[in-house]
Amino acid sequence: MICHICSKECSGFIDEKTSIEYGYCETCEYIFKSHEHHQDFSTQKERYNLHENDENDEGYQAYFQRFLDFTLPLVGKPNTALDFGCGRSSLLASLLDKEGIDCDYYDPIYHPDILSDSKKYQLIVSTEVFEHLHQPREVFESLLERLVEGGYLALQTQFHPNDIEAFKKWYYHQDPTHIVFFTAQTFRVLCEIYGCEFVGDNGKNIVVIRKYV
Ligand SMILES: [Zn+2]
Repeated sequence: MICHICSKECSGFIDEKTSIEYGYCETCEYIFKSHEHHQDFSTQKERYNLHENDENDEGYQAYFQRFLDFTLPLVGKPNTALDFGCGRSSLLASLLDKEGIDCDYYDPIYHPDILSDSKKYQLIVSTEVFEHLHQPREVFESLLERLVEGGYLALQTQFHPNDIEAFKKWYYHQDPTHIVFFTAQTFRVLCEIYGCEFVGDNGKNIVVIRKYV
């Protein structure tokens, strides 16, 4: 098996509980479910419709606020932003608007208006999206293309424990729509591949990356 992120040879393991096979790259710490466990679009949509994302829910607001509290001090003073894969809600975009950042939002299922290819952003945020992607490297590259030079990309996805036995007990891969898994190291390797600066991570689920000027 070849790693889809860094193209190195990677090993595999099977989770005995579910019989799902995973690929595991020790170089970039990328883990992925074997292809037959990737779901088609309509199955994913049914699952997403079950997500309870109530914008008035204080817990949901606090959840995004934690993301912003880590991210905003690292990204300079952007005027424009895009929330990529916002889901049903535009709550994160409105929180960014309140910070004085004019934020567009896009979601392939709920807000699928085509983004203008010519519009570039100073900040792109994407929370709980990357674990769903069939082609995370390609999406990472396409987001960089939507950034101005020197712009920032802030991603949230739960980092896996980077230990196969601990991984099997981990809750995050049990969601059938979660198919690919990262650590901060995976994003460091992507930064090397695409010539970006790895600005920082919170050791848990957030990375901030800068597209070099
Ligand atoms: Zn790799």
